[in-house]
Amino acid sequence: MADVVILGAGVSGHTAALHLSRMLGKRDLRSGNHSITVVSPNADWNWIPSNIWVGVGKMEPPQVLFPLQPVYEKRGVKFVQARATAIRPYGTGSDDDRPSVEVTYTGQDRDGESEVIPYDYLINATGPKLRFEATPGLGPDHHSYSVCTASHAADASAALGRCIESMKDGNECTLVVGMGHGTCTCEGAAFEYAFNVDHELREAGVREQARLVFLTNEAQLGDFGVDGLTFEHEGFVTHSELWASSLFRERQVEAIVGAHVERVDEGTVHYETLDGEHHSLDFDFAMLLPPFGGVPLKAYDRDGEDITDQIFAPSGFMKVDADYTPRPYEEWTVDDWPETYMAPGFDNVFATGIAFAPPHQISRPRKSPNGTVIAPSPPRTGMPSGVMGKTVATTIARKITDGEDAVPLKASMGRLGAACIASSGAGLRRGTAAAMSMLPVVPDYERYETGRDLHDTRGEIGLAGHWLKLILHYLFIYKAKGRFGWHLIPE
Ligand SMILES: Cc1cc2nc3c(=O)[nH]c(=O)nc-3n(C[C@H](O)[C@H](O)[C@H](O)COP(=O)(O)OP(=O)(O)OC[C@H]3O[C@@H](n4cnc5c(N)ncnc54)[C@H](O)[C@@H]3O)c2cc1C
Repeated sequence: MADVVILGAGVSGHTAALHLSRMLGKRDLRSGNHSITVVSPNADWNWIPSNIWVGVGKMEPPQVLFPLQPVYEKRGVKFVQARATAIRPYGTGSDDDRPSVEVTYTGQDRDGESEVIPYDYLINATGPKLRFEATPGLGPDHHSYSVCTASHAADASAALGRCIESMKDGNECTLVVGMGHGTCTCEGAAFEYAFNVDHELREAGVREQARLVFLTNEAQLGDFGVDGLTFEHEGFVTHSELWASSLFRERQVEAIVGAHVERVDEGTVHYETLDGEHHSLDFDFAMLLPPFGGVPLKAYDRDGEDITDQIFAPSGFMKVDADYTPRPYEEWTVDDWPETYMAPGFDNVFATGIAFAPPHQISRPRKSPNGTVIAPSPPRTGMPSGVMGKTVATTIARKITDGEDAVPLKASMGRLGAACIASSGAGLRRGTAAAMSMLPVVPDYERYETGRDLHDTRGEIGLAGHWLKLILHYLFIYKAKGRFGWHLIPE
């Protein structure tokens, strides 16, 4: 008998829960032979990539959300609507000396109640803490908007709508889209949102009155936090910088690169650039993503001593089987990246998706002459996050069924690919997309001259990519609902 606890029901944790329930079997879960408990503070699952469409009013929040409880109930998985606050990986020293997690309920009519949940295996898939507080004035509680959650995106859409109405009345507006701090990640999401805003402005017939600015911490367009991509496009070898720059030029989107947002006031963003200069830009609408950190979780040993520093990196992300030795950029290799996502010293604790601490950035680290770090953090996008969830679920299932010595499965970002489709317009005929795929996410200069496989690293533009994004929206929600044949749909 084994108890598995999964913290977080996002892309990674929910994928792990679905696969583990399939591997352990509904009968064993129902009879109490094994248990899977998913702890997550929100009642709903969110297909985050489609928040972009919510952010421009092409979709409503209910189209990107669905309740988790019925999905888990059907599969014999227990759902605890709560926030994990601490882990005790060595147990508590009491009679029931099992490792455990402390949680505080956020729903199920038990708001604020605490509970201790023992585990045999733990997956930390708590995703990011949205660190708006890192930049004064940033975020939906202050002077800018976000599309990180469905409700943030709905607010952004309403504000964008007001801006469009003002332009219809003959006013001119400046719209700023991008990254709200020098160390942000998820540049692909901001890039996609910028193209959606451009599309909306054109559809509304107000593009001429709008100045659309893309403000990014990338030293050059097309870096995407992965140090840029070299790929074949229509028979030529090209680079994502050229590709992204021409997309911006075609749409008259101005780009400000190498920027760290220092402060956002009402209607003005203040930023420093890599040359050390300080600038201000007035805006009527701003969607600026926050930097990510690990979700705050404490860790204690058997005597109640705080061991948070041993388990978590200073960023708050959980340490796993990566090589965290500090090295200069020139010495970084794919081998630094984790493979099993097992926490050092524990063969029953894993961190997947955004929750694991990366060994370092992927893009070249840069600072301004004032010492300000302006360098994208490494992205952990949906596809690798899902694959990590499935990989760890398989490792745990093997350990439960074949014994503790079962060999853990591996899924390094130095081997995994990723795809990002920046698609605008949600209809079947009127959309377009800039689609990128890369293999691997972390460049491997030993295996590939350009760091990545030229055949599987691509950049395409057109309606087909838009259809693909639309299909993925419906397909991934179908899969996440655990409907018939869900497991045949790849992560
Ligand atoms: C606007 C936007 C657009 C994106 N578009 C794309 C795209 O097109 N393609 C792509 O591949 N990727 C995209 N991404 C990235 C993708 O969403 C992430 O890679 C993915 O969600 C990461 O999965 P995760 O499970 O690690 O985190 P999440 O999906 O964020 O899940 C984390 C889960 O943990 C829960 N949680 C938080 N705190 C606690 C706690 N204390 N205890 C328990 N649970 C907790 C959360 O509620 C959530 O359920 C986008 C991201 C954003 C923000």
